[in-house]
Amino acid sequence: MNNWAGNIAYSTQAFEEAATGDAVRACVKAHARMKVLGTRHSFNGIADSSDRLVAVPGLDDVSIDVEAKTVTVGAGITYGQLAPVLHQQGWALHNLASLPHISVAGSISTGTHGSGETNGTLASAVSAIEFVSATGEFERLSRARDGETFKGAVVGLGALGVITRVTLDVEPAYMMRQHVYENMPLADVTDHFDAIQASGYSVSVFWDWQGSRVNAVWIKTRVDAAKPFDAPARFHGATRATKNLHPIAELSAEHCTEQLGAVGPWHERLPHFRMGFMPSAGRELQSEYFVPRRNAVDAILAVETLRDQIGPHLFITEIRAIAADDLWMSPACGQDSIAIHFTWKPDMDAVSRLQPRIERALAPYRARPHWGKLFMVTPSTLRSLYPNLPAFVALAKRYDPQGKFRNAFLNEHIFTM
Ligand SMILES: Cc1cc2nc3c(=O)[nH]c(=O)nc-3n(C[C@H](O)[C@H](O)[C@H](O)COP(=O)(O)OP(=O)(O)OC[C@H]3O[C@@H](n4cnc5c(N)ncnc54)[C@H](O)[C@@H]3O)c2cc1C
Repeated sequence: MNNWAGNIAYSTQAFEEAATGDAVRACVKAHARMKVLGTRHSFNGIADSSDRLVAVPGLDDVSIDVEAKTVTVGAGITYGQLAPVLHQQGWALHNLASLPHISVAGSISTGTHGSGETNGTLASAVSAIEFVSATGEFERLSRARDGETFKGAVVGLGALGVITRVTLDVEPAYMMRQHVYENMPLADVTDHFDAIQASGYSVSVFWDWQGSRVNAVWIKTRVDAAKPFDAPARFHGATRATKNLHPIAELSAEHCTEQLGAVGPWHERLPHFRMGFMPSAGRELQSEYFVPRRNAVDAILAVETLRDQIGPHLFITEIRAIAADDLWMSPACGQDSIAIHFTWKPDMDAVSRLQPRIERALAPYRARPHWGKLFMVTPSTLRSLYPNLPAFVALAKRYDPQGKFRNAFLNEHIFTM
Protein backbone atom coordinates (compact mmCIF):
# COMPACT_ATOMS: atom_id res chain seq x y z
CA MET A 1 0.00 0.00 0.00
CA ASN A 2 1.24 3.50 -0.91
CA ASN A 3 0.59 7.05 0.18
CA TRP A 4 -1.52 9.24 -2.10
CA ALA A 5 1.44 10.57 -4.07
CA GLY A 6 2.97 7.11 -4.47
CA ASN A 7 6.39 8.19 -3.17
CA ILE A 8 6.06 6.15 0.05
CA ALA A 9 5.43 2.40 -0.03
CA TYR A 10 4.29 1.57 3.49
CA SER A 11 6.59 -0.86 5.29
CA THR A 12 3.96 -3.45 6.18
CA GLN A 13 1.09 -5.26 4.47
CA ALA A 14 -0.64 -5.78 7.83
CA PHE A 15 -3.68 -3.52 7.59
CA GLU A 16 -7.06 -3.44 9.25
CA GLU A 17 -10.00 -1.08 9.57
CA ALA A 18 -11.68 -0.40 12.90
CA ALA A 19 -15.25 0.82 12.44
CA THR A 20 -16.22 1.68 16.03
CA GLY A 21 -14.55 3.13 19.10
CA ASP A 22 -14.66 -0.29 20.76
CA ALA A 23 -13.07 -1.90 17.71
CA VAL A 24 -10.28 0.67 17.97
CA ARG A 25 -9.79 -0.21 21.64
CA ALA A 26 -9.65 -3.93 20.86
CA CYS A 27 -7.16 -3.34 18.07
CA VAL A 28 -4.92 -1.19 20.29
CA LYS A 29 -5.01 -3.82 23.03
CA ALA A 30 -4.21 -6.62 20.58
CA HIS A 31 -1.07 -5.17 19.01
CA ALA A 32 2.29 -4.05 20.37
CA ARG A 33 2.93 -1.53 17.59
CA MET A 34 0.75 0.22 15.08
CA LYS A 35 0.17 3.42 13.17
CA VAL A 36 -3.11 4.99 12.06
CA LEU A 37 -3.63 6.05 8.48
CA GLY A 38 -5.84 8.96 7.57
CA THR A 39 -6.42 9.46 3.86
CA ARG A 40 -2.65 8.93 3.18
CA HIS A 41 -2.00 12.43 1.84
CA SER A 42 1.27 13.01 3.71
CA PHE A 43 4.45 12.94 1.63
CA ASN A 44 6.84 11.57 4.25
CA GLY A 45 6.87 8.53 6.54
CA ILE A 46 4.83 10.14 9.33
CA ALA A 47 1.98 7.63 8.86
CA ASP A 48 4.15 4.60 8.06
CA SER A 49 4.55 1.48 10.17
CA SER A 50 6.71 -1.59 9.83
CA ASP A 51 4.26 -3.52 12.05
CA ARG A 52 0.60 -2.70 11.47
CA LEU A 53 -1.51 -0.03 9.82
CA VAL A 54 -4.99 0.78 11.04
CA ALA A 55 -7.60 3.07 9.48
CA VAL A 56 -10.89 4.38 10.84
CA PRO A 57 -12.90 5.61 7.81
CA GLY A 58 -16.08 4.16 9.36
CA LEU A 59 -15.85 6.67 12.20
CA ASP A 60 -17.69 9.34 10.24
CA ASP A 61 -20.65 10.39 12.41
CA VAL A 62 -21.52 14.08 12.74
CA SER A 63 -23.23 15.71 15.70
CA ILE A 64 -23.82 19.46 15.91
CA ASP A 65 -24.21 21.22 19.25
CA VAL A 66 -26.08 24.42 18.43
CA GLU A 67 -25.70 25.89 21.93
CA ALA A 68 -21.95 25.29 22.13
CA LYS A 69 -21.43 26.13 18.43
CA THR A 70 -19.42 22.96 17.88
CA VAL A 71 -19.56 19.85 15.77
CA THR A 72 -18.28 16.50 17.03
CA VAL A 73 -17.16 14.12 14.31
CA GLY A 74 -15.79 10.62 14.02
CA ALA A 75 -12.06 10.87 13.41
CA GLY A 76 -12.11 9.17 10.01
CA ILE A 77 -14.38 11.69 8.35
CA THR A 78 -12.94 13.87 5.60
CA TYR A 79 -13.54 17.59 5.34
CA GLY A 80 -15.23 16.84 2.01
CA GLN A 81 -17.80 14.61 3.77
CA LEU A 82 -18.28 16.95 6.71
CA ALA A 83 -18.54 20.36 5.05
CA PRO A 84 -21.74 19.87 2.99
CA VAL A 85 -23.51 18.38 6.03
CA LEU A 86 -22.53 21.38 8.12
CA HIS A 87 -23.54 23.82 5.42
CA GLN A 88 -26.95 22.20 4.95
CA GLN A 89 -27.61 22.74 8.64
CA GLY A 90 -26.50 26.37 8.53
CA TRP A 91 -22.96 25.98 9.89
CA ALA A 92 -19.40 26.42 8.67
CA LEU A 93 -15.77 25.88 9.63
CA HIS A 94 -13.40 28.83 9.78
CA ASN A 95 -11.17 27.48 7.04
CA LEU A 96 -10.20 24.53 4.84
CA ALA A 97 -6.98 23.35 3.18
CA SER A 98 -6.41 23.46 -0.57
CA LEU A 99 -8.28 20.16 -0.91
CA PRO A 100 -11.28 18.66 0.92
CA HIS A 101 -10.20 15.05 0.41
CA ILE A 102 -8.15 14.80 3.65
CA SER A 103 -9.31 13.37 6.98
CA VAL A 104 -9.99 15.61 9.97
CA ALA A 105 -7.79 13.53 12.31
CA GLY A 106 -4.87 13.27 9.87
CA SER A 107 -5.03 16.98 9.11
CA ILE A 108 -5.07 18.23 12.67
CA SER A 109 -2.31 15.76 13.58
CA THR A 110 0.11 17.44 11.14
CA GLY A 111 -0.87 21.10 11.58
CA THR A 112 -2.54 21.29 8.17
CA HIS A 113 -3.67 24.80 7.21
CA GLY A 114 -5.38 26.90 4.58
CA SER A 115 -4.74 30.60 4.07
CA GLY A 116 -5.86 33.90 5.53
CA GLU A 117 -4.03 36.17 7.92
CA THR A 118 -6.78 35.92 10.53
CA ASN A 119 -7.24 32.16 10.15
CA GLY A 120 -5.37 29.68 12.33
CA THR A 121 -4.46 26.13 11.27
CA LEU A 122 -7.33 23.63 10.93
CA ALA A 123 -6.22 22.28 14.33
CA SER A 124 -6.91 25.68 15.90
CA ALA A 125 -10.65 24.91 15.51
CA VAL A 126 -10.37 21.82 17.72
CA SER A 127 -12.07 22.30 21.08
CA ALA A 128 -12.00 18.68 22.25
CA ILE A 129 -10.42 15.42 21.26
CA GLU A 130 -10.99 11.77 22.16
CA PHE A 131 -8.33 9.13 21.57
CA VAL A 132 -7.46 5.61 22.59
CA SER A 133 -4.10 5.58 24.35
CA ALA A 134 -1.63 2.68 24.45
CA THR A 135 -3.48 0.87 27.27
CA GLY A 136 -6.62 0.72 25.14
CA GLU A 137 -8.51 3.24 27.25
CA PHE A 138 -10.38 6.29 25.97
CA GLU A 139 -8.78 9.63 26.86
CA ARG A 140 -10.76 12.84 26.52
CA LEU A 141 -9.18 16.29 26.50
CA SER A 142 -10.81 19.66 26.00
CA ARG A 143 -9.62 23.20 25.45
CA ALA A 144 -11.79 24.43 28.32
CA ARG A 145 -10.64 21.87 30.88
CA ASP A 146 -7.19 20.57 30.06
CA GLY A 147 -4.99 23.60 29.43
CA GLU A 148 -1.45 22.74 28.45
CA THR A 149 -2.14 19.00 28.01
CA PHE A 150 -4.77 19.85 25.41
CA LYS A 151 -2.40 22.26 23.63
CA GLY A 152 0.20 19.51 23.50
CA ALA A 153 -2.15 16.79 22.26
CA VAL A 154 -4.00 18.35 19.31
CA VAL A 155 -1.17 18.54 16.75
CA GLY A 156 -0.11 15.14 18.01
CA LEU A 157 1.82 13.76 14.99
CA GLY A 158 -0.01 10.47 15.57
CA ALA A 159 2.16 9.87 18.64
CA LEU A 160 -0.37 9.83 21.50
CA GLY A 161 -2.89 7.25 20.34
CA VAL A 162 -5.71 6.60 17.91
CA ILE A 163 -8.01 9.61 17.67
CA THR A 164 -11.64 8.50 17.61
CA ARG A 165 -13.57 11.78 17.91
CA VAL A 166 -12.82 15.44 17.32
CA THR A 167 -14.92 18.45 18.34
CA LEU A 168 -14.53 21.52 16.15
CA ASP A 169 -15.72 25.11 16.55
CA VAL A 170 -18.33 26.10 13.99
CA GLU A 171 -19.83 29.43 13.00
CA PRO A 172 -22.93 30.36 10.99
CA ALA A 173 -22.63 29.32 7.34
CA TYR A 174 -21.28 32.01 5.02
CA MET A 175 -21.01 32.57 1.31
CA MET A 176 -17.84 33.42 -0.58
CA ARG A 177 -16.47 34.35 -3.96
CA GLN A 178 -13.00 34.06 -5.40
CA HIS A 179 -11.14 36.10 -7.98
CA VAL A 180 -7.85 35.22 -9.59
CA TYR A 181 -5.38 37.88 -10.68
CA GLU A 182 -2.65 37.03 -13.16
CA ASN A 183 0.89 38.36 -13.58
CA MET A 184 1.39 40.53 -10.53
CA PRO A 185 4.77 42.32 -10.59
CA LEU A 186 7.07 40.90 -7.92
CA ALA A 187 7.76 44.44 -6.76
CA ASP A 188 4.05 44.86 -5.96
CA VAL A 189 4.01 41.58 -4.04
CA THR A 190 6.99 42.62 -1.93
CA ASP A 191 6.17 46.34 -1.56
CA HIS A 192 2.48 45.81 -0.79
CA PHE A 193 2.66 42.39 0.86
CA ASP A 194 0.46 43.35 3.81
CA ALA A 195 -2.18 45.08 1.70
CA ILE A 196 -2.40 42.08 -0.63
CA GLN A 197 -2.74 39.65 2.28
CA ALA A 198 -5.42 41.86 3.80
CA SER A 199 -7.42 42.07 0.56
CA GLY A 200 -9.30 38.83 1.18
CA TYR A 201 -10.37 36.32 3.81
CA SER A 202 -7.95 33.82 2.25
CA VAL A 203 -5.19 34.83 -0.15
CA SER A 204 -2.77 32.58 -2.05
CA VAL A 205 0.17 33.74 -4.15
CA PHE A 206 1.21 31.21 -6.83
CA TRP A 207 4.64 31.56 -8.37
CA ASP A 208 7.13 29.48 -10.35
CA TRP A 209 9.94 31.85 -9.19
CA GLN A 210 10.66 32.75 -12.84
CA GLY A 211 10.55 36.28 -14.23
CA SER A 212 9.65 39.43 -12.40
CA ARG A 213 5.93 38.69 -12.08
CA VAL A 214 4.20 36.10 -9.90
CA ASN A 215 1.89 33.83 -11.86
CA ALA A 216 -1.34 34.40 -9.96
CA VAL A 217 -2.91 35.72 -6.78
CA TRP A 218 -6.11 33.98 -5.66
CA ILE A 219 -8.31 36.16 -3.45
CA LYS A 220 -11.18 34.47 -1.62
CA THR A 221 -13.59 36.88 0.05
CA ARG A 222 -16.57 36.49 2.31
CA VAL A 223 -19.78 38.03 1.06
CA ASP A 224 -20.49 39.15 4.65
CA ALA A 225 -17.12 40.96 5.00
CA ALA A 226 -17.30 44.37 6.66
CA LYS A 227 -15.34 45.82 3.74
CA PRO A 228 -16.12 43.70 0.65
CA PHE A 229 -13.41 43.32 -2.01
CA ASP A 230 -14.62 45.19 -5.09
CA ALA A 231 -12.55 43.08 -7.54
CA PRO A 232 -11.15 45.79 -9.81
CA ALA A 233 -10.04 44.77 -13.30
CA ARG A 234 -6.44 45.61 -12.27
CA PHE A 235 -5.07 44.95 -8.78
CA HIS A 236 -1.50 45.88 -7.83
CA GLY A 237 -0.42 45.62 -11.46
CA ALA A 238 -2.12 42.24 -12.01
CA THR A 239 -5.03 41.54 -14.35
CA ARG A 240 -8.29 39.91 -13.23
CA ALA A 241 -8.65 36.53 -14.94
CA THR A 242 -11.56 36.08 -17.33
CA LYS A 243 -11.72 32.28 -17.13
CA ASN A 244 -11.31 29.70 -14.37
CA LEU A 245 -7.68 28.68 -13.83
CA HIS A 246 -5.73 25.83 -12.20
CA PRO A 247 -2.76 26.82 -10.00
CA ILE A 248 -0.61 24.80 -12.44
CA ALA A 249 -1.42 26.67 -15.64
CA GLU A 250 -1.23 23.64 -17.96
CA LEU A 251 -3.83 21.66 -15.99
CA SER A 252 -7.59 21.75 -16.43
CA ALA A 253 -9.51 24.21 -14.28
CA GLU A 254 -12.33 21.64 -14.18
CA HIS A 255 -10.58 20.29 -11.06
CA CYS A 256 -10.83 23.66 -9.34
CA THR A 257 -13.47 25.45 -7.34
CA GLU A 258 -15.49 28.11 -9.16
CA GLN A 259 -13.78 31.48 -9.63
CA LEU A 260 -14.73 34.66 -11.57
CA GLY A 261 -16.46 36.10 -8.52
CA ALA A 262 -19.35 33.59 -8.57
CA VAL A 263 -20.95 33.45 -5.12
CA GLY A 264 -20.99 30.01 -3.49
CA PRO A 265 -20.90 28.25 -0.11
CA TRP A 266 -17.71 28.54 1.98
CA HIS A 267 -16.75 24.89 1.40
CA GLU A 268 -16.92 25.29 -2.39
CA ARG A 269 -14.63 28.33 -2.40
CA LEU A 270 -12.06 27.90 0.42
CA PRO A 271 -10.37 24.82 -1.13
CA HIS A 272 -8.76 25.30 -4.54
CA PHE A 273 -9.71 21.78 -5.61
CA ARG A 274 -13.12 20.15 -5.87
CA MET A 275 -14.09 16.95 -4.12
CA GLY A 276 -14.46 14.18 -6.70
CA PHE A 277 -11.62 15.55 -8.83
CA MET A 278 -7.85 14.99 -8.67
CA PRO A 279 -6.36 17.75 -6.52
CA SER A 280 -3.11 19.41 -7.58
CA ALA A 281 -1.01 17.51 -10.17
CA GLY A 282 -1.30 13.95 -8.81
CA ARG A 283 2.21 12.70 -9.57
CA GLU A 284 4.11 15.19 -7.44
CA LEU A 285 6.07 15.80 -4.25
CA GLN A 286 5.52 18.59 -1.77
CA SER A 287 7.48 20.51 0.85
CA GLU A 288 6.54 23.61 2.83
CA TYR A 289 8.14 25.94 5.37
CA PHE A 290 6.54 28.32 7.86
CA VAL A 291 8.37 31.57 8.62
CA PRO A 292 7.30 34.34 10.98
CA ARG A 293 5.00 36.74 9.17
CA ARG A 294 7.33 39.68 9.88
CA ASN A 295 10.07 37.96 7.82
CA ALA A 296 7.80 37.06 4.90
CA VAL A 297 9.31 39.28 2.22
CA ASP A 298 12.93 38.62 3.23
CA ALA A 299 12.28 34.88 3.28
CA ILE A 300 10.62 34.93 -0.15
CA LEU A 301 13.52 36.91 -1.61
CA ALA A 302 16.01 34.50 -0.01
CA VAL A 303 14.37 31.56 -1.83
CA GLU A 304 14.20 33.62 -5.01
CA THR A 305 18.02 33.60 -5.19
CA LEU A 306 17.66 29.84 -5.96
CA ARG A 307 15.20 30.42 -8.82
CA ASP A 308 17.40 28.90 -11.55
CA GLN A 309 17.93 25.72 -9.52
CA ILE A 310 14.30 25.42 -8.43
CA GLY A 311 12.69 26.25 -11.79
CA PRO A 312 13.24 23.00 -13.74
CA HIS A 313 11.89 20.82 -10.91
CA LEU A 314 8.87 22.77 -9.75
CA PHE A 315 5.22 22.70 -10.76
CA ILE A 316 4.33 25.71 -8.61
CA THR A 317 4.93 27.46 -5.29
CA GLU A 318 2.10 28.72 -3.11
CA ILE A 319 2.55 31.39 -0.43
CA ARG A 320 -0.13 31.61 2.27
CA ALA A 321 -0.70 33.40 5.60
CA ILE A 322 -1.60 31.57 8.82
CA ALA A 323 -2.58 33.20 12.12
CA ALA A 324 -0.69 32.19 15.26
CA ASP A 325 -2.09 29.45 17.50
CA ASP A 326 -0.99 28.02 20.85
CA LEU A 327 -0.77 24.33 19.96
CA TRP A 328 2.69 23.10 20.92
CA MET A 329 3.66 21.27 17.74
CA SER A 330 1.78 23.50 15.30
CA PRO A 331 4.18 25.14 12.84
CA ALA A 332 2.28 28.37 13.56
CA CYS A 333 2.60 28.02 17.34
CA GLY A 334 3.22 31.42 18.90
CA GLN A 335 3.70 33.30 15.66
CA ASP A 336 1.67 34.71 12.79
CA SER A 337 3.23 32.91 9.86
CA ILE A 338 3.70 32.79 6.14
CA ALA A 339 4.05 29.35 4.60
CA ILE A 340 6.15 28.92 1.46
CA HIS A 341 5.04 25.74 -0.27
CA PHE A 342 6.60 23.82 -3.18
CA THR A 343 4.71 21.42 -5.45
CA TRP A 344 7.58 19.51 -7.06
CA LYS A 345 7.74 17.31 -10.12
CA PRO A 346 8.11 13.69 -8.94
CA ASP A 347 11.93 13.56 -9.00
CA MET A 348 13.01 12.64 -5.48
CA ASP A 349 16.73 13.00 -6.26
CA ALA A 350 16.28 16.56 -7.46
CA VAL A 351 14.07 17.46 -4.48
CA SER A 352 16.61 15.94 -2.08
CA ARG A 353 19.36 18.06 -3.65
CA LEU A 354 17.30 21.25 -3.51
CA GLN A 355 15.84 20.93 -0.04
CA PRO A 356 19.03 21.56 1.95
CA ARG A 357 19.67 24.66 -0.18
CA ILE A 358 16.18 25.99 0.46
CA GLU A 359 16.46 25.13 4.15
CA ARG A 360 19.81 26.96 4.34
CA ALA A 361 18.30 30.01 2.64
CA LEU A 362 15.40 29.98 5.11
CA ALA A 363 17.44 29.13 8.22
CA PRO A 364 17.90 32.79 9.30
CA TYR A 365 14.10 33.01 9.52
CA ARG A 366 13.84 29.90 11.68
CA ALA A 367 11.65 28.11 9.15
CA ARG A 368 9.51 25.31 10.54
CA PRO A 369 8.76 22.48 8.09
CA HIS A 370 5.24 21.13 7.49
CA TRP A 371 4.97 17.82 9.38
CA GLY A 372 3.19 16.07 6.51
CA LYS A 373 5.58 17.09 3.72
CA LEU A 374 9.20 16.41 2.76
CA PHE A 375 11.96 18.07 4.77
CA MET A 376 15.55 17.47 5.87
CA VAL A 377 15.74 19.77 8.91
CA THR A 378 17.79 18.03 11.62
CA PRO A 379 16.35 16.94 14.99
CA SER A 380 18.49 19.46 16.85
CA THR A 381 17.15 22.26 14.65
CA LEU A 382 13.60 21.01 15.25
CA ARG A 383 14.25 21.19 18.98
CA SER A 384 15.40 24.79 18.64
CA LEU A 385 12.33 25.66 16.53
CA TYR A 386 9.83 24.06 18.91
CA PRO A 387 10.42 25.14 22.53
CA ASN A 388 7.68 22.73 23.63
CA LEU A 389 9.18 19.70 21.93
CA PRO A 390 10.63 18.20 25.16
CA ALA A 391 7.26 18.65 26.85
CA PHE A 392 5.56 17.03 23.85
CA VAL A 393 7.88 14.02 24.12
CA ALA A 394 7.03 13.72 27.82
CA LEU A 395 3.31 13.97 27.04
CA ALA A 396 3.53 11.28 24.35
CA LYS A 397 5.41 9.02 26.79
CA ARG A 398 2.65 9.53 29.35
CA TYR A 399 0.01 8.17 26.96
CA ASP A 400 2.31 5.73 25.18
CA PRO A 401 5.18 4.68 27.50
CA GLN A 402 6.29 1.67 25.39
CA GLY A 403 6.23 3.47 22.03
CA LYS A 404 3.25 1.57 20.56
CA PHE A 405 2.46 4.49 18.24
CA ARG A 406 6.03 5.38 17.32
CA ASN A 407 7.54 4.74 13.92
CA ALA A 408 10.81 5.47 12.12
CA PHE A 409 9.70 9.04 11.33
CA LEU A 410 8.93 9.85 14.96
CA ASN A 411 12.07 8.11 16.23
CA GLU A 412 14.22 10.03 13.76
CA HIS A 413 12.69 13.47 14.22
CA ILE A 414 10.97 13.66 17.60
CA PHE A 415 12.03 10.99 20.10
CA THR A 416 15.72 11.76 19.85
CA MET A 417 16.46 12.61 23.45
C1 LIG B 1 -2.67 17.30 -3.07
C2 LIG B 1 -2.37 17.68 -1.66
C3 LIG B 1 -2.67 18.96 -1.21
C4 LIG B 1 -2.37 19.34 0.10
N1 LIG B 1 -2.72 20.59 0.51
C5 LIG B 1 -2.44 20.97 1.77
C6 LIG B 1 -2.80 22.27 2.25
O1 LIG B 1 -3.47 23.03 1.56
N2 LIG B 1 -2.41 22.62 3.49
C7 LIG B 1 -1.69 21.80 4.29
O2 LIG B 1 -1.34 22.20 5.40
N3 LIG B 1 -1.39 20.54 3.90
C8 LIG B 1 -1.74 20.12 2.67
N4 LIG B 1 -1.45 18.84 2.26
C9 LIG B 1 -0.85 17.93 3.25
C10 LIG B 1 -1.94 17.20 4.03
O3 LIG B 1 -2.93 18.07 4.45
C11 LIG B 1 -1.37 16.55 5.29
O4 LIG B 1 -0.38 15.65 4.90
C12 LIG B 1 -2.44 15.84 6.13
O5 LIG B 1 -1.84 15.29 7.26
C13 LIG B 1 -3.13 14.75 5.37
O6 LIG B 1 -4.14 14.16 6.15
P1 LIG B 1 -4.40 12.61 5.98
O7 LIG B 1 -5.77 12.33 6.47
O8 LIG B 1 -4.07 12.16 4.61
O9 LIG B 1 -3.34 12.03 7.02
P2 LIG B 1 -2.22 10.90 6.80
O10 LIG B 1 -1.22 11.42 5.87
O11 LIG B 1 -2.85 9.60 6.48
O12 LIG B 1 -1.61 10.86 8.29
C14 LIG B 1 -0.94 11.98 8.81
C15 LIG B 1 -0.66 11.76 10.30
O13 LIG B 1 -1.89 11.73 11.02
C16 LIG B 1 -1.95 10.54 11.80
N5 LIG B 1 -3.34 10.14 11.90
C17 LIG B 1 -4.25 10.02 10.91
N6 LIG B 1 -5.43 9.61 11.43
C18 LIG B 1 -5.26 9.47 12.77
C19 LIG B 1 -6.07 9.07 13.85
N7 LIG B 1 -7.35 8.73 13.70
N8 LIG B 1 -5.52 9.05 15.09
C20 LIG B 1 -4.23 9.39 15.29
N9 LIG B 1 -3.41 9.76 14.31
C21 LIG B 1 -3.91 9.81 13.07
C22 LIG B 1 -1.10 9.54 11.03
O14 LIG B 1 -0.68 8.47 11.86
C23 LIG B 1 0.05 10.44 10.62
O15 LIG B 1 0.91 10.62 11.70
C24 LIG B 1 -1.75 18.41 0.99
C25 LIG B 1 -1.47 17.12 0.54
C26 LIG B 1 -1.78 16.74 -0.76
C27 LIG B 1 -1.50 15.34 -1.20
